[in-house]
Amino acid sequence: MPGEAPQQEEAELEFGRWLFAQDCRFTTAAVNLAQLPPMTLPEVAFAGRSNVGKSSLLNALTGRKTLARTSHTPGRTQQLNFFELGGRLMLVDLPGYGYARASKQSVRRWTTLTRDFLKGRASLRRVCLLIDARHGLKESDREILTILDRAAVSYQVVLTKADKCKPAEGERVRAALAAELERRPAAHPEIAVTSAVTGAGIAELRAAIAALAVAEITE
Ligand code: GDP
Repeated sequence: MPGEAPQQEEAELEFGRWLFAQDCRFTTAAVNLAQLPPMTLPEVAFAGRSNVGKSSLLNALTGRKTLARTSHTPGRTQQLNFFELGGRLMLVDLPGYGYARASKQSVRRWTTLTRDFLKGRASLRRVCLLIDARHGLKESDREILTILDRAAVSYQVVLTKADKCKPAEGERVRAALAAELERRPAAHPEIAVTSAVTGAGIAELRAAIAALAVAEITE
């Protein structure tokens, strides 16, 4: 890419590859704030509508088939799951949202627990907000973006299931999203395009996430 030092880019990819090859283990499931683990490591959280491909992406990133369980009953899991990666980074799997059959009660619980988490979590470096590459933003996604903007939590959009749409269609969705994100104060301008099936974009996303762990260590 013009203006970018290829060597540095290669070093970031290499570090991402290395970090995500380290031991990754489930540490905590929290259903309320009291159950959150201590803020000992930088954290990157993953959010998205139910069925967006969040479990599949987490499994692809960590190279494990069953780290995050793919949801057979979308909307049911209302807990925050913490995974410690290589003793350097905490990956936080937030509950899926926007599932039509989820009761109002569970949606409210999602927002309360997650809002509180987002507002008070000094160790949270970034939220990866997953969006289906075929569909772009839905209203429920916009609600979440607004929560993140208000909480001033840095977030990055990650398109999932890129293998399911034609390149031109994917590019149209990406461009529309980029234009919308320009008006959002806490949005990271770069949009990751990924597929858990083909592995596209996974190495680059590993590098982007691993860089957040480094930032903490070199401070
Ligand atoms: P979650 O509810 O967000 O955790 O979504 P899952 O990871 O359970 O995925 C939902 C469905 O989408 C499953 O049937 C997956 O096999 C499928 N899926 C997930 N990621 C991809 C992908 O990158 N490409 C394709 N073609 N299907 C995917």
